[in-house]
Amino acid sequence: MTNIPDIFGDLVFGDEVMRERLSPEIYKSLHRTIERGKPLDITVANSVAAAMRDWAVEKGATHFTHWFQPMTGITAEKHDSFISPQKDGKVIMEFSGKELIKGESDASSFPSGGLRATFEARGYTAWDPTSYAFIKDRSLCIPTVFCSWGGEALDMKTPLLRSIESVAKEAKRVLRALGNEEVKRVIPTVGPEQEYFLVDKQLFNKRKDLIYCGRTLFGAKPPKGQDVEHHYYGAIKPRISAFMHDLDLELWKLGVLAKTKHNEAAPAQHELAPIFTTLNTAADHNQITMETMKRVAEQHGLVCLLHEKPFAGVNGSGKHINWSLSTDKGQNLFEPGKSPQENAQFLLFLSAVIRAVDEYQDILRASIASAGNDHRLGASEAPPAIISMFLGDELTDILTAMETGEEYTGNHKTEMEIGVDVLPHFPKDATDRNRTSPFAFTGNKFEFRMPGSALSVAGPATVLNTIVADVLADFALRLEESEDINKTLNKLIRRTIREHKRIIFNGDGYSEEWKAEAKNRGLSNLATTVDALPAQLSEKSVGVFSRHSVFTEKELHSRYEIQLEGYCSTVEIEAATMLDIAKKDIIPAVNRYVTELSNSLAIQKKAGARVCIGTVTEQDQLSLLFDELYRSTIKLEEAVSCIPNYKDIYDKAEYLCNTVLVRMETLRATSDKIEESTPADMWPMPDYGELMFSI
Ligand code: ADP
Ligand code: MG
Repeated sequence: MTNIPDIFGDLVFGDEVMRERLSPEIYKSLHRTIERGKPLDITVANSVAAAMRDWAVEKGATHFTHWFQPMTGITAEKHDSFISPQKDGKVIMEFSGKELIKGESDASSFPSGGLRATFEARGYTAWDPTSYAFIKDRSLCIPTVFCSWGGEALDMKTPLLRSIESVAKEAKRVLRALGNEEVKRVIPTVGPEQEYFLVDKQLFNKRKDLIYCGRTLFGAKPPKGQDVEHHYYGAIKPRISAFMHDLDLELWKLGVLAKTKHNEAAPAQHELAPIFTTLNTAADHNQITMETMKRVAEQHGLVCLLHEKPFAGVNGSGKHINWSLSTDKGQNLFEPGKSPQENAQFLLFLSAVIRAVDEYQDILRASIASAGNDHRLGASEAPPAIISMFLGDELTDILTAMETGEEYTGNHKTEMEIGVDVLPHFPKDATDRNRTSPFAFTGNKFEFRMPGSALSVAGPATVLNTIVADVLADFALRLEESEDINKTLNKLIRRTIREHKRIIFNGDGYSEEWKAEAKNRGLSNLATTVDALPAQLSEKSVGVFSRHSVFTEKELHSRYEIQLEGYCSTVEIEAATMLDIAKKDIIPAVNRYVTELSNSLAIQKKAGARVCIGTVTEQDQLSLLFDELYRSTIKLEEAVSCIPNYKDIYDKAEYLCNTVLVRMETLRATSDKIEESTPADMWPMPDYGELMFSI
């Protein structure tokens, strides 16, 4: 039996190992860097590097790598061995402080959106000591940021760290203004729930669409879908359970607090949720989790699909980002407190998020835009593309009463004066949970449900931190200038509710009525990535990101370009794969079947046998559909051949979205209809039923 506490964090150069292996002075100095962002002295770095190397070598590591997150969505690593040649022809294992804190990297192969001029292709990686080093695959991995020589961020982590700083700073200012002198630091915390699908590797290998695109481009619905909701929280099958067990073990060794595992709504869909931790670590751990899921799945003859919508017509996969702010004293700022002061503080922070989400809904929407997520948002069991906020009826009533200054008629019958009265107790009611809401307050944290399963936590978290920081900065200023804190507080909360209550919606986010209602309220409904991305370049966006030094205007532009490029290449690959499958596999297969049908008809007729009327109709219908299949394939091919003519990347993306994707859908619909009436042994690839129900 594995002793879990013994193996937990075994592959992490964490606090305990540091304390054990570093001298007290070095340990203290490193801690100052970790906690207060003080620059690391090279002599300290040398000692830390030596200790890391000894520890890693003892654990069997031979290489080290700066581990970073370029804007490709996945992590990057370049491994160097520790070996250093000696005069006697032998080698020793070496690792210097210089190598630890800074690495050079050829930035030219990573997306930069025009930031990296061709004459300066180098980028550099710098150690982020707030995230622990760890061993993966015999390499010591050092979490790092990745920047151009000009200092522009080329990765996901740099802006994330900047945004953590800014929300921490502004939240602390608000707390100070409210008279809290004790808190030294505010830290955003995150627990990302990760959804995924598992399919059998052998079946996967027979699906070119899964291999090249991570999602199926064809596939008729099986007789049983997710309509019968047996799967959600159902018993976990032995093969999946064995996978989950190994996955947990691997993650625990890497210090990831893997906690909850269960089956999700769709067949073959599952979820893993860790215990929340500080945001930077949570983001790194989520990258490790996704990577480990894929690796462990392979060991079990499975493939882990992290695509947001691998199967049309069934639930897509999300990454619910549970987010909160916590103080170094361990207080959760979104925990409604017991005393009047705590209540007031809670309501103020809550108001800040309400205003931030309303004011910057379009930027928040853009932060989770991707080609894959477009198929998920607004589809079955996924939040709509409209951003709204769920607070629950009780809290909404309280806020409404506050806004109007009327008495709150819930279970507490007095007019409320914030900062003076105690809030009525509102229980975190499990039945009150609204799964259709894109952004829900769930008792003491927010759950942002729009991010897709493949997305890095860093992107949306960076935006969330920054927009909340911006509102907190404004609140802080007003409180700092105030002569009567309670009065200002009341005014701030009331005004926020009055001006931003349109974002609060507790009803069914999936309904058509909500779309109409949201439009009436003036909420934006940006259905696709192409609709959503331009918001990042607006004056408002440039303003908020530069005010908090999270992105310069140049960086915003570069990210916009990269996202559009990513969108275009995804759709282009999908269209090419679809044509390949249609022309080389589906059309020939259907052709064989049509020929077989007509041959058997001819034989039957010749033999003077009574021809079954069913065969005739089927043949007629199939011939019609076959024509349609041909035509839609040609139409898609024509659409694809026009793509190179687009010079402006936005125009290209728009064309791909409005023409190519639409034609892809038509082709798919026809093919799916044919699949339904083609014998299973003649269909050229495993069907949905096999893919989703065979394990
Ligand atoms: P559900 O599926 O009901 O939303 P889960 O237990 O699957 O709930 O996931 C909830 C997630 O929220 C977990 O990762 C949990 O650790 C995280 N969480 C709880 N409290 C906080 C907090 N204060 N800050 C950030 N995340 C939190
Ligand atoms: Mg959840």
